[in-house]
Amino acid sequence: MKRIAVLTSGGDAPGMNAAIRAIVRKGIYDGLEVYGINYGYAGMVAGDIHRLTVDDVGDTISRGGTILYSARYPEFKDLEGQKKGIEQLKKFGIEGLIVIGGDGSYRGGAALTKLGFPTIGIPGTIDNDIVGTEYTLGFDTAINTVLDSVDKIRDTATSHVRTFIIEVMGRNAGDIALWAGIGSGAESIVIPEIDFRMEEVVKEIRAGRERGKKHTIIMLAEGVMQGTEFAEKLKEYDNFHTRVTVLGHVQRGGSPSARDRVLGSLFGYNAVQLLEEGKGGLCVGIVGSELAYSDISETLNTKRDVPYLSLYQINKEISF
Ligand code: ATP
Repeated sequence: MKRIAVLTSGGDAPGMNAAIRAIVRKGIYDGLEVYGINYGYAGMVAGDIHRLTVDDVGDTISRGGTILYSARYPEFKDLEGQKKGIEQLKKFGIEGLIVIGGDGSYRGGAALTKLGFPTIGIPGTIDNDIVGTEYTLGFDTAINTVLDSVDKIRDTATSHVRTFIIEVMGRNAGDIALWAGIGSGAESIVIPEIDFRMEEVVKEIRAGRERGKKHTIIMLAEGVMQGTEFAEKLKEYDNFHTRVTVLGHVQRGGSPSARDRVLGSLFGYNAVQLLEEGKGGLCVGIVGSELAYSDISETLNTKRDVPYLSLYQINKEISF
């Protein structure tokens, strides 16, 4: 293999640049030519492809977002779009592809591999919702961003004896709420993976108040419901002087944490090695602190178990 390419697709995530940098540098170190594709699969089909040099990825490891830009391009679900994409890659003499993104991006990668074009996936999404890895790129930075915000909100919550509902991202996954909840000492964590009863949340708030606590933090995953809706339902039980904060896209941005920089570097490096070994249709991940490989199609057909779901019960026993 002489030429490989990389693209980022779906939602951006901190650490994507670290992965791109590792792919470019490792590829060039091994004598390959590395190409960057702008705007995900849309750029692939449009031929927005350019060669990347060692310098192009200099000074990027500390930057959030993605230097290759990202886009949603539903047309890539169609065979026609996929074939056109491969045609473009072949025009540039590219023989292998690395896709950094979430499960939608993986579906594109699986389709390309099925059509004979070797593709490797790197899990890049703040949601942490990918099978085959315990941690995705961007998750660690996102939870640190949430913690930073909650620390500030807590000052106000205490000063005014307020209950704050913090709505965090994660789509259908509760990982961000779970980790940021335990990390911020939230009295309640509400995630899609575990049924909740409002009576129990009310009990948790009252227990804190009776103990003399001046603030209450409820960490709510967006996959359960919106913060405003949750506040309305809570109000049916008691007036806890509730305020809702929707953190929104701040969770997607920012300079990647140490962990995301290291993960990006590790994933990028190993993805290049897989292509060099002639492999395709695989994705990289971290399982039990070790690098792991899985079949992309298999991960897409496997129901995900949230790693460390036990944190939910642990939080109940230490944050009352
Ligand atoms: P995030 O988790 O951040 O949303 P994602 O990769 O899941 O990331 P999607 O918007 O679902 O984000 O997918 C990204 C892109 O992958 C799509 O815009 C499309 O180009 C491609 N894609 C999605 N689903 C498929 C599919 N079934 N087949 C081929 N390509 C797909």
